[in-house]
Amino acid sequence: MRKPMAAANWKMNKNSEETRQFLQEYMTQASDLSGAEVVICPPFTLLAMLQQELASPNAPAWGGQNCFWEDKGAYTGEVSAPMLKELGCSYVIIGHSERRIIMGETDGQINQKLKAVLNHGMVPILCVGETLQQRENNAALSIVKNQLDKNLKDLAVQPGQLVIAYEPVWAIGTGVNASSDDAQEMIACIRSRLRELFNDDLANSTRILYGGSVRDDNIAELMAKPDIDGALIGGASLEADSLVRIARIIANG
Ligand code: PEP
Repeated sequence: MRKPMAAANWKMNKNSEETRQFLQEYMTQASDLSGAEVVICPPFTLLAMLQQELASPNAPAWGGQNCFWEDKGAYTGEVSAPMLKELGCSYVIIGHSERRIIMGETDGQINQKLKAVLNHGMVPILCVGETLQQRENNAALSIVKNQLDKNLKDLAVQPGQLVIAYEPVWAIGTGVNASSDDAQEMIACIRSRLRELFNDDLANSTRILYGGSVRDDNIAELMAKPDIDGALIGGASLEADSLVRIARIIANG
């Protein structure tokens, strides 16, 4: 059974006061929320606060938005997997399109980062997805398959230790989401590629999320599809009431 997931990607947003207020509102509004795993991925600077504030059993998990592949050393500005582990992170987003495109992260680097996250006992949320031009050229499926093949190369991963987010680049932060049929088609292909690269167990246990302009008024249709196990949510995760509404819909499948 794959427990549905609502993962919040705050990107480079929120200071500590805004975060404290968010967490208070979230914990009040979500006290009875069950049936979905909620993960909050704030900027690195807020992780220690989440570790302190989210100590109760019903609280969401938290994670990083990126990490470096080496554990330590002369890598100015980077943060390593053991550093995130020490801050209680259970998850790390890896290969977000903003990092691939703006920071020039390569598939090989993403592969190394995935290995570092797994080596330190955390679960990577690997982001894959095509650009608009690639979709218009009918290349979306082959682009995502190629990302998976390179990113997951030689990965020693056990069932349940991997989350994938299908995030079409053209849908991120644009207000235009993929249709539920297109998202289902891609996510089913991702699952079948996992079967080919690994095995049935891994394919059946990996949660595959949709990401890209998810809101409380479009998530139900996406969740009605058999292979979509939840969402990676950017803009709509910044307000507690919006995240809770989306997480409740995800919890109800
Ligand atoms: C994201 O940043 O991963 C994302 C999906 O953003 P948004 O929900 O704002 O499109």
